[in-house]
Amino acid sequence: MKTGFIGLGHMGSPMAANLLRAGHEVTVFNRSPEKCRALLELGAHEAVTVADACRGDVVITMLADDLAAARVALADDGIVGQLAVGAIHISMSTIGVALSKRLARTHAAAGQGFVAAPVFGRPEMAVAARLFIVAAGDPAVLEACQPLFAAMGQKTMPVGEDPSAANLVKLSGNFLLAAAIEALGEAVALVDKAGIDRQAYVDLLASTIFPAPAYRTYGDLIAEGKFEPAAFAAPLGYKDIRLMLAAAESLQVPMPLGGLLHHRFLRLLANGGDHLDWAAIGGLAAQDAGTARSAR
Ligand code: NAP
Repeated sequence: MKTGFIGLGHMGSPMAANLLRAGHEVTVFNRSPEKCRALLELGAHEAVTVADACRGDVVITMLADDLAAARVALADDGIVGQLAVGAIHISMSTIGVALSKRLARTHAAAGQGFVAAPVFGRPEMAVAARLFIVAAGDPAVLEACQPLFAAMGQKTMPVGEDPSAANLVKLSGNFLLAAAIEALGEAVALVDKAGIDRQAYVDLLASTIFPAPAYRTYGDLIAEGKFEPAAFAAPLGYKDIRLMLAAAESLQVPMPLGGLLHHRFLRLLANGGDHLDWAAIGGLAAQDAGTARSAR
């Protein structure tokens, strides 16, 4: 499919590369144009403007946050103004429910398709085309997008016709991941201060009562104290907790644990943690216990 791809960060670059490898014609745009270079070598076309990336059947966005997604989609020279009638915008960024609803309305008014398809999986899973894609939108439009999803992920999970449902599911999943990171951080700090080997403790948990990728991935990072380089940066994790709390507020669902996680991210960022992986909230308990060590 003739596809534009906007947003070539940790996730977008490998996702666009996998579209190219699967034989799709891809035109790439990034705010910082130097990130296009590696993809041009793989056969991508370069877009100099957002409009240049909107000339195909589909445009995919994988941008940092609501500010970036709103600017790229809704500005005068943005996607909505440039995309042809009948063409599709697939929003794969983790954005808020309210913005997703606004994008759905605006694209519908312009006669364009809109699908929300945020993903679970860190950059290494994006490289391996092993992402889990949570997709919502008009079923016919979702079906048209499936060849693209198949090139980027191992599984596409449709969650309904309202695109914002996919964003809510994604945000709720990141809330659970952040809660697991915080809980692991506290438990590892506890056993570590008692002299128990941190890595052996994580191995025990991840191979018995918590045999889940999240406990393995984040348990290892916490045991090693390895929070940089960031694969998923702490400010993006903070953004997701705030977006999750905004959705909870608008639905009147009290989520006290979300409030605690908001506080933990704020503490991390207030103390210079912007450059760290979001797993670094799992290192705060060791700091509070007076046992924090640097990566070993
Ligand atoms: P990233 O590496 O920080 O890349 C962010 C992208 O957004 C870059 O292309 C950046 O352009 C662009 N951008 C930021 N602000 C912009 C603005 N105001 N206008 C235009 N472009 C802007 O982030 P990422 O890790 O790839 O994450 C992308 C999305 O996927 C986020 O919504 C994130 O929550 C989600 N996600 C991430 C992971 C992960 O593990 N990393 C996993 C699942 C989902 P520049 O290059 O010019 O800065």
